[in-house]
Amino acid sequence: MYQINLIGEEYCSCGSVMKCEAEHIHKSCEDDNGHSIEVLKILICLTCNKLTVILYETWVSAYEEEMYGYENNPQQRDLHDLYREYTKTVLLAPKINLDPCIPEPIAQIIYEAQLVLGKSARASFILCRAVLEEICNDFDIPSKNTNKKGFIQLHDRLKLLVEKEKISDDLNQIIGGIKELGNEGAHSGHVIFSEKVQNKDAENLLELVNYIVERLYVDKYRQEEAKKGLAQLKNKILPP
Ligand SMILES: [Zn+2]
Repeated sequence: MYQINLIGEEYCSCGSVMKCEAEHIHKSCEDDNGHSIEVLKILICLTCNKLTVILYETWVSAYEEEMYGYENNPQQRDLHDLYREYTKTVLLAPKINLDPCIPEPIAQIIYEAQLVLGKSARASFILCRAVLEEICNDFDIPSKNTNKKGFIQLHDRLKLLVEKEKISDDLNQIIGGIKELGNEGAHSGHVIFSEKVQNKDAENLLELVNYIVERLYVDKYRQEEAKKGLAQLKNKILPP
Protein backbone atom coordinates (compact mmCIF):
# COMPACT_ATOMS: atom_id res chain seq x y z
CA MET A 1 0.00 0.00 0.00
CA TYR A 2 1.10 3.52 -0.73
CA GLN A 3 2.09 6.01 1.91
CA ILE A 4 0.98 9.49 0.99
CA ASN A 5 1.66 12.72 2.76
CA LEU A 6 -0.32 15.47 1.21
CA ILE A 7 1.51 18.67 1.86
CA GLY A 8 -0.04 21.55 3.73
CA GLU A 9 -2.51 21.86 6.56
CA GLU A 10 -6.23 21.76 6.14
CA TYR A 11 -8.49 24.26 7.84
CA CYS A 12 -11.98 23.77 9.24
CA SER A 13 -14.83 26.05 8.12
CA CYS A 14 -14.49 27.68 11.55
CA GLY A 15 -10.97 28.75 10.56
CA SER A 16 -8.99 26.48 12.86
CA VAL A 17 -6.44 23.92 11.84
CA MET A 18 -7.53 20.28 11.63
CA LYS A 19 -5.79 17.04 12.48
CA CYS A 20 -6.09 13.91 10.34
CA GLU A 21 -8.00 11.17 12.17
CA ALA A 22 -8.02 8.53 9.47
CA GLU A 23 -6.80 8.12 5.91
CA HIS A 24 -7.67 5.62 3.25
CA ILE A 25 -5.67 5.34 0.05
CA HIS A 26 -7.08 3.61 -2.98
CA LYS A 27 -5.47 2.88 -6.33
CA SER A 28 -7.84 2.73 -9.28
CA CYS A 29 -8.35 3.11 -13.03
CA GLU A 30 -5.10 1.32 -13.81
CA ASP A 31 -4.18 1.00 -17.47
CA ASP A 32 -1.02 1.05 -19.62
CA ASN A 33 -0.65 4.80 -19.13
CA GLY A 34 -0.74 4.79 -15.36
CA HIS A 35 -3.27 4.83 -12.60
CA SER A 36 -5.16 7.22 -10.39
CA ILE A 37 -4.88 7.44 -6.63
CA GLU A 38 -7.72 8.47 -4.38
CA VAL A 39 -7.02 9.53 -0.82
CA LEU A 40 -9.91 9.85 1.57
CA LYS A 41 -9.14 11.77 4.74
CA ILE A 42 -11.24 12.23 7.83
CA LEU A 43 -10.10 15.32 9.67
CA ILE A 44 -11.12 16.65 13.02
CA CYS A 45 -11.02 20.30 14.04
CA LEU A 46 -8.87 21.04 17.07
CA THR A 47 -11.16 23.89 18.10
CA CYS A 48 -14.80 23.03 17.31
CA ASN A 49 -14.22 19.26 17.28
CA LYS A 50 -16.30 18.76 14.12
CA LEU A 51 -15.50 16.39 11.28
CA THR A 52 -14.53 17.21 7.71
CA VAL A 53 -14.15 14.56 5.01
CA ILE A 54 -11.99 15.32 1.99
CA LEU A 55 -11.27 13.27 -1.12
CA TYR A 56 -8.02 13.95 -2.98
CA GLU A 57 -7.38 12.52 -6.43
CA THR A 58 -4.31 12.43 -8.59
CA TRP A 59 -2.87 10.64 -11.60
CA VAL A 60 0.44 8.77 -11.57
CA SER A 61 1.82 7.97 -14.99
CA ALA A 62 3.32 4.57 -15.74
CA TYR A 63 6.55 6.41 -16.49
CA GLU A 64 6.71 7.97 -13.03
CA GLU A 65 5.90 4.69 -11.40
CA GLU A 66 8.69 2.93 -13.26
CA MET A 67 11.14 5.79 -12.87
CA TYR A 68 10.81 6.20 -9.14
CA GLY A 69 9.42 2.85 -8.02
CA TYR A 70 6.97 4.47 -5.60
CA GLU A 71 5.45 1.24 -4.51
CA ASN A 72 8.68 0.06 -2.89
CA ASN A 73 10.00 3.47 -2.04
CA PRO A 74 7.53 5.63 -0.10
CA GLN A 75 10.10 8.38 0.53
CA GLN A 76 10.31 9.00 -3.19
CA ARG A 77 6.58 9.47 -3.25
CA ASP A 78 6.74 11.98 -0.42
CA LEU A 79 9.38 13.90 -2.30
CA HIS A 80 7.35 13.99 -5.49
CA ASP A 81 4.19 14.79 -3.60
CA LEU A 82 5.64 18.24 -3.10
CA TYR A 83 5.07 18.85 -6.79
CA ARG A 84 2.04 16.71 -7.38
CA GLU A 85 -1.30 18.31 -7.98
CA TYR A 86 -4.32 16.79 -6.32
CA THR A 87 -7.88 17.69 -7.02
CA LYS A 88 -9.67 18.17 -3.77
CA THR A 89 -13.35 17.51 -3.08
CA VAL A 90 -14.84 18.38 0.28
CA LEU A 91 -17.43 15.67 0.90
CA LEU A 92 -18.52 16.85 4.30
CA ALA A 93 -17.77 20.03 6.23
CA PRO A 94 -19.32 21.81 9.19
CA LYS A 95 -21.34 24.85 8.25
CA ILE A 96 -19.35 28.06 8.17
CA ASN A 97 -19.94 29.75 11.48
CA LEU A 98 -21.92 32.71 10.30
CA ASP A 99 -23.15 35.27 12.74
CA PRO A 100 -26.80 34.66 13.69
CA CYS A 101 -27.72 38.17 12.57
CA ILE A 102 -27.07 37.14 8.94
CA PRO A 103 -30.46 36.30 7.37
CA GLU A 104 -31.05 32.57 6.90
CA PRO A 105 -31.56 32.58 3.07
CA ILE A 106 -28.20 34.33 2.65
CA ALA A 107 -26.44 32.01 5.10
CA GLN A 108 -27.92 29.02 3.23
CA ILE A 109 -26.53 30.07 -0.17
CA ILE A 110 -23.14 30.76 1.38
CA TYR A 111 -23.18 27.26 2.83
CA GLU A 112 -24.06 25.78 -0.56
CA ALA A 113 -21.23 27.73 -2.19
CA GLN A 114 -18.88 26.32 0.44
CA LEU A 115 -20.10 22.75 -0.14
CA VAL A 116 -19.47 22.79 -3.90
CA LEU A 117 -16.06 24.47 -3.60
CA GLY A 118 -14.05 21.33 -4.26
CA LYS A 119 -16.39 19.88 -6.87
CA SER A 120 -17.01 22.86 -9.06
CA ALA A 121 -15.36 26.25 -8.87
CA ARG A 122 -17.91 27.39 -11.45
CA ALA A 123 -20.88 26.37 -9.32
CA SER A 124 -19.35 28.16 -6.36
CA PHE A 125 -18.78 31.31 -8.45
CA ILE A 126 -22.41 31.29 -9.57
CA LEU A 127 -23.62 30.82 -5.99
CA CYS A 128 -21.48 33.75 -4.85
CA ARG A 129 -23.32 35.85 -7.40
CA ALA A 130 -26.60 34.44 -6.09
CA VAL A 131 -25.67 35.73 -2.61
CA LEU A 132 -25.68 39.25 -4.06
CA GLU A 133 -29.17 38.68 -5.49
CA GLU A 134 -30.33 37.45 -2.09
CA ILE A 135 -28.83 40.50 -0.35
CA CYS A 136 -30.84 42.70 -2.75
CA ASN A 137 -33.98 40.74 -1.88
CA ASP A 138 -33.27 41.16 1.81
CA PHE A 139 -32.98 44.94 1.45
CA ASP A 140 -36.22 44.99 -0.58
CA ILE A 141 -34.57 46.02 -3.83
CA PRO A 142 -37.09 45.22 -6.57
CA SER A 143 -36.27 42.43 -8.99
CA LYS A 144 -38.91 43.35 -11.55
CA ASN A 145 -39.85 46.58 -13.24
CA THR A 146 -43.16 47.82 -11.95
CA ASN A 147 -44.24 49.69 -15.07
CA LYS A 148 -42.54 47.58 -17.73
CA LYS A 149 -42.48 43.84 -17.87
CA GLY A 150 -39.14 42.19 -17.27
CA PHE A 151 -36.47 41.65 -14.70
CA ILE A 152 -34.10 44.22 -13.34
CA GLN A 153 -30.52 43.15 -13.94
CA LEU A 154 -28.34 42.47 -10.93
CA HIS A 155 -26.09 45.33 -12.00
CA ASP A 156 -28.97 47.80 -11.64
CA ARG A 157 -30.30 46.22 -8.46
CA LEU A 158 -26.89 46.66 -6.87
CA LYS A 159 -26.85 50.32 -7.89
CA LEU A 160 -30.18 50.77 -6.10
CA LEU A 161 -28.84 48.88 -3.09
CA VAL A 162 -25.75 51.08 -2.86
CA GLU A 163 -27.90 54.22 -2.97
CA LYS A 164 -30.47 52.95 -0.50
CA GLU A 165 -28.04 51.64 2.08
CA LYS A 166 -25.41 54.35 1.49
CA ILE A 167 -22.78 51.68 0.94
CA SER A 168 -19.24 53.02 1.04
CA ASP A 169 -17.07 53.15 -2.09
CA ASP A 170 -14.63 50.50 -0.94
CA LEU A 171 -17.40 48.02 -0.22
CA ASN A 172 -19.17 48.91 -3.44
CA GLN A 173 -16.05 48.04 -5.41
CA ILE A 174 -15.82 44.62 -3.82
CA ILE A 175 -19.51 43.95 -4.44
CA GLY A 176 -19.03 44.97 -8.09
CA GLY A 177 -16.02 42.67 -8.37
CA ILE A 178 -17.93 39.68 -7.00
CA LYS A 179 -20.70 40.37 -9.49
CA GLU A 180 -18.25 40.51 -12.43
CA LEU A 181 -16.51 37.31 -11.37
CA GLY A 182 -19.82 35.58 -10.75
CA ASN A 183 -20.90 36.55 -14.27
CA GLU A 184 -17.75 34.91 -15.59
CA GLY A 185 -18.88 31.72 -13.86
CA ALA A 186 -22.35 32.00 -15.34
CA HIS A 187 -21.49 32.94 -18.90
CA SER A 188 -17.98 31.92 -19.98
CA GLY A 189 -17.34 28.68 -21.87
CA HIS A 190 -16.14 25.58 -20.07
CA VAL A 191 -12.63 25.46 -21.53
CA ILE A 192 -11.94 29.14 -20.93
CA PHE A 193 -13.31 29.08 -17.39
CA SER A 194 -11.54 25.91 -16.30
CA GLU A 195 -8.24 27.15 -17.73
CA LYS A 196 -8.45 30.38 -15.77
CA VAL A 197 -10.12 29.38 -12.52
CA GLN A 198 -8.90 26.94 -9.88
CA ASN A 199 -10.71 25.74 -6.75
CA LYS A 200 -8.53 28.03 -4.67
CA ASP A 201 -9.94 31.01 -6.57
CA ALA A 202 -13.46 29.95 -5.66
CA GLU A 203 -12.37 29.76 -2.02
CA ASN A 204 -10.98 33.29 -2.22
CA LEU A 205 -14.15 34.60 -3.85
CA LEU A 206 -16.25 33.06 -1.10
CA GLU A 207 -14.06 34.80 1.47
CA LEU A 208 -14.89 38.11 -0.20
CA VAL A 209 -18.58 37.26 -0.03
CA ASN A 210 -18.21 36.54 3.67
CA TYR A 211 -16.50 39.87 4.14
CA ILE A 212 -19.35 41.72 2.40
CA VAL A 213 -21.97 39.96 4.48
CA GLU A 214 -20.06 40.74 7.69
CA ARG A 215 -19.88 44.39 6.78
CA LEU A 216 -23.52 44.65 5.74
CA TYR A 217 -25.09 42.73 8.61
CA VAL A 218 -22.74 42.10 11.51
CA ASP A 219 -21.13 45.56 11.58
CA LYS A 220 -24.52 47.20 11.28
CA TYR A 221 -25.90 45.09 14.13
CA ARG A 222 -22.94 45.92 16.38
CA GLN A 223 -23.26 49.59 15.53
CA GLU A 224 -26.92 49.53 16.58
CA GLU A 225 -26.03 47.70 19.79
CA ALA A 226 -23.29 50.26 20.56
CA LYS A 227 -25.74 53.12 19.98
CA LYS A 228 -28.25 51.54 22.35
CA GLY A 229 -25.56 50.89 24.97
CA LEU A 230 -24.36 54.46 24.83
CA ALA A 231 -27.90 55.84 25.13
CA GLN A 232 -28.54 53.68 28.21
CA LEU A 233 -25.31 54.77 29.89
CA LYS A 234 -25.93 58.43 29.17
CA ASN A 235 -29.47 58.18 30.41
CA LYS A 236 -28.28 56.69 33.67
CA ILE A 237 -25.22 58.76 34.37
CA LEU A 238 -25.82 62.00 32.49
CA PRO A 239 -29.62 62.40 32.51
CA PRO A 240 -30.85 65.32 30.42
ZN1 LIG B 1 -13.72 23.92 13.51
